[in-house]
This record gives sequence, C-alpha cells and structure tokens, in this order.
Amino acid sequence: MFTPGQIGKEKASLVMLVRNRELTDALRSMRMIEDRFNRKYRYPWTFLNDEPFTEEFINFTTGMASGKTQYGLIGIEQWSMPEHIDLQKVQANMETMVAKNVIYAGSMSYRHMCRYNSGFFYRHELLANYDYYWRVEPAVEYYCDINYDPFELMRTNDKLYGFVMAMYEYDVTIKTLWDETKSFIKSHPQYLAPDNALDFFVDGGRASRRGDTEIKGTYNLCHFWSNFEIANLNLWRSQAYSEYFAHLDKAGGFYYERWGDAPIHSLAAGLFLPKSKIHHFGDIGYRHAPYSRCPQDIDSHMTGRCLCNRAEHFDDDGYSCLPRWWKVAGMSIGAGPRYIPH
Ligand code: GDP
Ligand code: MN
Repeated sequence: MFTPGQIGKEKASLVMLVRNRELTDALRSMRMIEDRFNRKYRYPWTFLNDEPFTEEFINFTTGMASGKTQYGLIGIEQWSMPEHIDLQKVQANMETMVAKNVIYAGSMSYRHMCRYNSGFFYRHELLANYDYYWRVEPAVEYYCDINYDPFELMRTNDKLYGFVMAMYEYDVTIKTLWDETKSFIKSHPQYLAPDNALDFFVDGGRASRRGDTEIKGTYNLCHFWSNFEIANLNLWRSQAYSEYFAHLDKAGGFYYERWGDAPIHSLAAGLFLPKSKIHHFGDIGYRHAPYSRCPQDIDSHMTGRCLCNRAEHFDDDGYSCLPRWWKVAGMSIGAGPRYIPH
C-alpha cells in the first residue's frame, strides 16, 4: 500500500470520479493539488469511472501525479437503477422537475453519480487498503499552499469528516430525504450519537442527548458541500451508514427525486458522529464554481502563499451555512486553530 516514493505516512488516497472528456479539467485540479500539497507527500491518486479510461487519460494523469496512480471501472450494478425502482414514476417525476428548471433534473447519469458517491465509492476494491480519502473534482481550485498533511490531522485529532464550504440544498431535490432520515433514526436509535450536530440541520432545535431515540423538527437544508471532502472511509463502511444507505436506496429517492450525496453524507456524519469528529478546514482556500472561499486568518496568507482575496469569500454569504456551523461547533469566525504537526 505504501508505494515506493510515497512520503506521506497515512493510508490515504486522492480520489476522483471523472469522465474521459473531463481530462483537461482533471489535470487542472491535479496540478493545483500537486503544486500546493501533494508533491511534498506523493499520496496516490485513484480515478474511478463508469466507462473504461482512455489511454490518453491514463497517460496524462499519471504524468501529472507525483505518486502512484490507479484506475478503476465501476460495476454496472452500482451505476444503474435497482430493480425495485418504478421507471414510470421516475420518468413522470423527472418531467415535473425539468418543468421547474431544477438543475440536473433530466439527467439519469447525474442520479447514478449521486447514488454512487453516496453508497459505493468507498467499497471500490482499489480503496480497500485505505483509511482516508480526499475527494477531488475536475476544475476545482486550491488557493493556498497546504503545508501540513490533512490526512495526518484527521488521524491524530480523531476526525472522521472534513469539509470547507456548507450551504443549502435545493428542497425540490430532496423532498422526502428528511422524513426517510427521521424514520431511519426511529427504527435505529442506537446510531444517533450523543452530542451530534443536529442543531446544524434543525433551527431552534437542540442536539440530541444520550438516550434520545428520535429526531424532530424541520430540516433547514444545510449540508457540507461534498465536492471537497477529506474523510475516513470507515465512516461510510460502518454498520450505521451501510444500513442508512440501504434504507435510502430502498426508498428510491435517488431516482424518484434527485437526492445528492452531499446532504446524505452530511446528515450521516452530523447525526451518527459526535460533532467533535467533524473538522472545518478553515485554512484551505478553495473554489468549485460558482463559489469560492478564502482563508480568513492572516497566518494562512503569511505562510500559505494564498492567491485569493480575503474580502471575497463565501463563508458568511447569505447562502452559506458556515455561520451555523461556527455556532454549533462553538468556534469563532474564520479559521480554526492552526494545525501543528507532531
Ligand atoms: P456538480 O458538481 O454537482 O455540478 O456535478 P459534477 O458534474 O461536477 O459531477 C460531480 C462529480 O462526478 C465530478 O467529479 C464529475 O466528474 C463526476 N461525474 C458526474 N457525472 C459523471 C458520469 O456520468 N460519469 C463519471 N465517470 N463521472 C461523473
Ligand atoms: Mn462538480
């Protein structure tokens, strides 16, 4: 698993689910992460695709990577509608959503992608020997040097989920997700962590305490934006999450609605974990169109060669849920305390 030349000590991989035609944008993301971080650590890259990667894709991304690269094909059963799904109902609902101009409403591949990111990527055999992953999408940007190993931060601080931006989901895409989540918790109250982050999802609620068997209130649609994730794969491999995904998959909202992996990952991390196991990477400057955020602390700029305008950042935008996170996590505004490697 530790390939020759790897410098970083964690069992970790950068992971990109990507299409062949996104090669240039994939290289763009890779170059930034390599220049800003990975060439000092040489963690491996894992690429996943529902179609075989082209020789060109493999050659060019391998050329861009400082560490080992590996390429995985996704099995058709993990990239198609399960048998119990009613196709006519899917089509009717799709048309309704298209008429409402919901983004990706008419796309079947987008639904497969969201389901794959929710329930399958962490089970891919190429990731079997890893504990941590860093999700990378094509055409994202990193604005600052990352002068420490975020995977090491996760392990040494006992963090299981890390994010940079948080915002609201389009309610039409997840009409029944909250009800399904509530009913799942009702039948599996043992998975509700004491000191969870329920208050991030429900305004005016209160985080569950030991002994609570239900969650109440209305979902405010806040979620961690999952195009960036640094997290522990074992969170998704856990019994709690496996059963949660199976419950959601049976309910069918990946297809009847257009459930995204972001609210699903967020609700699971926020409810099944104590909130202290969730980390906000306040020192990472990041862009995924149409939003960017720039570290607010001076130190990141002094030591990280940031190329972003501190005044332009999404964190306290009206559409950002980060102010709620600061409150829930008991943090002050801006970057958290800097991580000092041991
Ligand atoms: P958005 O960020 O929600 O607008 O969605 P994206 O188009 O960026 O897709 C999210 C991620 O899934 C990106 O890494 C895409 O490259 C990847 N992706 C989306 N659709 C497909 C697909 O049909 N096949 C493959 N292999 N990857 C996909
Ligand atoms: Mn994207």
